[in-house]
Amino acid sequence: MLKSGTIQSLPDLPVPLLTIYLDTNPTKQMIRGLKPDYLNRFESRAKLIAQAVPTGDLPLFLEQVQRASAYLQDHPLQCRGVVIFTGLDTWELIPLQVDVEDEVRWGTPALAQLFWLLDEHKPHGIVLVGQKRVQIFLWWLGEMLELEEKEFRIEPSKVKEMGPVSRAAGVRMSHGTNRDVYQHHVDAQYEHYQKQIAKDVDRWCAAEHLNSLFVVGLVEMAKGIQKELPPGLRERTTVIEKDLVWVESRAELEKRIEPFVEKHERERKVLVMESLLGDSRAVVLGIDGTLVQLQQGRIRNLMVVKGLDGSLRQCLKCSWADRTQDPACPVCGGEREVVRLREVLPQLARRYSVSVEVVSGEAARRLQEAGGMGAWLRETEKKEYAQA
Ligand SMILES: [Zn+2]
Repeated sequence: MLKSGTIQSLPDLPVPLLTIYLDTNPTKQMIRGLKPDYLNRFESRAKLIAQAVPTGDLPLFLEQVQRASAYLQDHPLQCRGVVIFTGLDTWELIPLQVDVEDEVRWGTPALAQLFWLLDEHKPHGIVLVGQKRVQIFLWWLGEMLELEEKEFRIEPSKVKEMGPVSRAAGVRMSHGTNRDVYQHHVDAQYEHYQKQIAKDVDRWCAAEHLNSLFVVGLVEMAKGIQKELPPGLRERTTVIEKDLVWVESRAELEKRIEPFVEKHERERKVLVMESLLGDSRAVVLGIDGTLVQLQQGRIRNLMVVKGLDGSLRQCLKCSWADRTQDPACPVCGGEREVVRLREVLPQLARRYSVSVEVVSGEAARRLQEAGGMGAWLRETEKKEYAQA
């Protein structure tokens, strides 16, 4: 699994280096001869880009191609995709459980595809609840990472203590009443745990900026935890009524939970899209308008159709980018070069601290009709719009 610390370090990797993205999905692979498909595809892409590698870099480039080939030959991959950064003192291999497109680049780390994947697959929280323990997982990029496991202890001792006290007071308790007292005591303990878990989970969701939370387990316990969450998080929480604590294999657990997460994400994105398209004042729609507002620092959240691309011109001096054909920058008059929207958008979003959602399916169809891209303006901009 990709770690957030790794992402932050990638832009600073020493250059030049080779970036490799490969679709290694085992269900699509065929072994031709002795090599897996993706290794053949990597080698032919590497041959293609070799012609564009500066002569001085060529020995280092060929060494990295050789190194990656040897690794891929010796280590058959079971993940859906892989990203490799390899250079003089660099070897970073990131197996992924989401679909990746083949891409091989030389030079600076090619991060655009990775950023698109991160914007498409936001992290969620999973709380797996059983009768005796709770496990907390981060669901990210199609994988579950266990963060914490807690055992409950439902202590019967206090119930025993209550016996003599009751007798001392001269009260004869029937067997049934005793059972009620015990049940009440157990309920109270469960409630205590539910409150505690809800508190921990809330703190964790806030720290990780999690969009959605799934509480998986027997309905009483799962709903009990949901009930104790603060309202904001409760609205973003889905209860999955399934007892999965007994499932030992992580892969099996992922397989059983994935359909719920995917369905929820599909529906959530359609709702978010509806609210974007239904909001006429605080939003901007279409590529050109959105790019302008983005680069003027006026955007809060941006939505974009998966795979959206196109040709832009970007200033070499101030890095302003838009779709106009003028060879001179409209902001500073500097010289401009042709760039791909796909490459530039993730950089711009990160520079202006804008959260991006990549949508596909029904949500994407609706956004496509509105120009493929749209965004919410920041609060201050909304006020200005309202006043205008
Ligand atoms: Zn400029």
